[in-house]
Amino acid sequence: MDKKRIYLSSPTMHGEEQKYVQEAFDTNWVAPLGPNVNAFEKEIAAYTGCGHAAALSAGTAAIHMALRLLGVGRGDVVFVPDLTFAASCNPIVYENGTPVLIDAEPDTWNMSPQALRRAFEKYPHPRAVICVHLYGTPAKLDEIMEICAEHDVPLIEDAAESLGSTYKGRHTGTFGKYGIYSFNGNKIITTSGGGMFVSAEEDAAKKVTFLATQARDPARHYQHSQIGYNYRMSNVTAGIGRGQLLHLEEHKAKKKAIYQQYREAFADIPQLRMNPMNPDGDANCWLSCLTIDKSSEITSDIVMDALEEKLNAESRPIWKPMHLQPVFSECDFFAHNEDGSSVGTDIFERGFCLPSDIKNTEAEMEAIIRTVRELF
Ligand SMILES: *Cc1c(COP(=O)(O)O)cnc(C)c1O
Repeated sequence: MDKKRIYLSSPTMHGEEQKYVQEAFDTNWVAPLGPNVNAFEKEIAAYTGCGHAAALSAGTAAIHMALRLLGVGRGDVVFVPDLTFAASCNPIVYENGTPVLIDAEPDTWNMSPQALRRAFEKYPHPRAVICVHLYGTPAKLDEIMEICAEHDVPLIEDAAESLGSTYKGRHTGTFGKYGIYSFNGNKIITTSGGGMFVSAEEDAAKKVTFLATQARDPARHYQHSQIGYNYRMSNVTAGIGRGQLLHLEEHKAKKKAIYQQYREAFADIPQLRMNPMNPDGDANCWLSCLTIDKSSEITSDIVMDALEEKLNAESRPIWKPMHLQPVFSECDFFAHNEDGSSVGTDIFERGFCLPSDIKNTEAEMEAIIRTVRELF
């Protein structure tokens, strides 16, 4: 018997998306640029308070553009979290820069301020610092921003996973010089694929829009004095984004409820721990994660296999740290702990992401919880 798939985090559509897409078709704005793109940028800016926004084809493209604006070039060092998705790191290499990997800290699973300080001792002049808000939990922004300010280095916030999360009442993505969001299919809202570059600086958003549309100089003929990119969001996908944005707060509330339900359900099992929240923040709880104590003979692989086999439920490992990736194995890495042991590696080895799809039913949630509990 085929059981219905229980997803980790799949798109949740509502209907308004189609209205905006229909408008694009009705007016024949089936192109990059167009009224949905402009409106989506304004709506994201209004929602997050970021100032200015440039809608792009992917969050990865937005990180690339942020690095381009900062002039990252051959040999330039960029500090980036070790425990993240490779897309945080890859664009540094597109510009021939050198990623230097900063370990996670245990309190939020994000960039460790003490490892960051150590990295600055060895590399006093990186071109940029990239921070991430993993699984939607805000990083220790006060500490990270203070260190960046001491060294006069710009911060890029990779808020791909944390749209809707706030830190001390302000949206993640709006603290750094530049911020980015992702609308990939599994993110809290989606355009099927897309991203947004954001900044308080209007010139920065304008420059990104220019570079992302092939860097065409203002002239009647095709004139180019810089290398450009075809990174703009299309007017059709921006329509999906506009419809989705109407439901972001609702998605966030449901994700938070999922996290809360899991936390309560596993609270009495001492070997299990949920991913941490930042007490200074309000997380969107994009994915709910568990770590299993070292003392348990049940590994995360065993739990993930049980969910797959018994419930046809999708779970997945924590992001594998960048310093363990073959492609980044040559990169310098700064551990959180004095003894050089890596917090990110420990989280990766003991943790996994639970099914966190907001369409999962109460019965499915209960079955997931039961399946995990039975193992402990
Ligand atoms: C998803 C993700 C990205 C990339 O966003 P895309 O829109 O898929 O290009 C970057 N960083 C992190 C941390 C992500 O989770």
